[in-house]
Amino acid sequence: MDEGFDGHGLAYHPERVAGWLATRTTTGPIYTEVELWPACTCRCSFCGVDHLVGSHSDRLDAAQWRRVLDDLADAGNRSVMFAGHGESLLHPDAAAVIGHASGRMRTSVTTNGLAFEAAGAELIDLLAWIRFSINAGDAATYAAVHGTAPDRFEVAVRAVAAAAKRKRRHGLSVVVGVQLVLLDENLAGAVALARIARDAGADYFSVKPYSQHPRSGNRLSPDYSGAAALERQLAPLSTDRFRVVFRAGTFARLGAPRPYSTCLATPFMSFVDARGDVWGCPVFAGDPAFRVGNAVATRFPDLWSGPGRAAVQARVESLDATACREACRLDPSNRYLARLLDARPEDAFL
Ligand code: SF4
Ligand code: SF4
Repeated sequence: MDEGFDGHGLAYHPERVAGWLATRTTTGPIYTEVELWPACTCRCSFCGVDHLVGSHSDRLDAAQWRRVLDDLADAGNRSVMFAGHGESLLHPDAAAVIGHASGRMRTSVTTNGLAFEAAGAELIDLLAWIRFSINAGDAATYAAVHGTAPDRFEVAVRAVAAAAKRKRRHGLSVVVGVQLVLLDENLAGAVALARIARDAGADYFSVKPYSQHPRSGNRLSPDYSGAAALERQLAPLSTDRFRVVFRAGTFARLGAPRPYSTCLATPFMSFVDARGDVWGCPVFAGDPAFRVGNAVATRFPDLWSGPGRAAVQARVESLDATACREACRLDPSNRYLARLLDARPEDAFL
């Protein structure tokens, strides 16, 4: 079962894509990833951004975030995922900031869950979805994989249960999920974790592959020869209220040739870090060559149309995208846009 987890949303923004096809630029992103907090209480063995987590302690206050988020919405941004190079729920005003964004745009949160209860379960009320990153089926493996204490496993599971309980009690539409990045260390516990997620009341449990970040300190080469067997073991756990989502499309794309050599999709997305810095590519965030500017110092629409972003965009387009991060978030969007540019005679037929 996959059900769109490996897809993209560009097909639902035809007017924005048509504008890009005509001009090769956009007046603003559709989707933005926002990092509220630059540090994390975990030290995950697979963390793709281990070179950035905790690299500084600067952060914006709630009033600054409200303005940045309003500017994003005014620029036509439709959705925000709170994630980034740290744990966004550690921000003391996380619930208020997320609630403000939810009043203007579709919102979601990716979290390790350890700060969820302190942040306030009500932060899920207006979200489209929340995804808890839990990467082991038992406390000892959790401690080893997440680089934290074994008792944090129970805290993470409790957070899922709290979110699911609030969803059901208040009839919320938020989708509550648990995600596992498949590693050699956690493969044996994946089925146990799926059962734990189901019993906690989650709506789904997803399994995705590790993807090497070009700049991360960790260098892992998980053995996925057992992945197909795991998919078969997980499938029967789905019920009418709980789905197992084995991200087969993402597994299949690992190592597969990419039908584009230039990244095309960055005009549709942005990344704003805990300082308010805006980056032209989320993967190369932290590299000054990809820094567009600061969304507190300069209003977002001006940043987007300014010379800084034009220079960064030119840099992105000069990269050999076939050498970019495998399973980059924008890979499905890039495939879609590359196909649109590759018009074929048969496309004239419905
Ligand atoms: S919880 Fe996320 S940001 Fe924190 S160390 Fe783990 S993977 Fe990195
Ligand atoms: S394809 Fe490359 S340039 Fe484009 S978003 Fe992914 S990592 Fe960045």
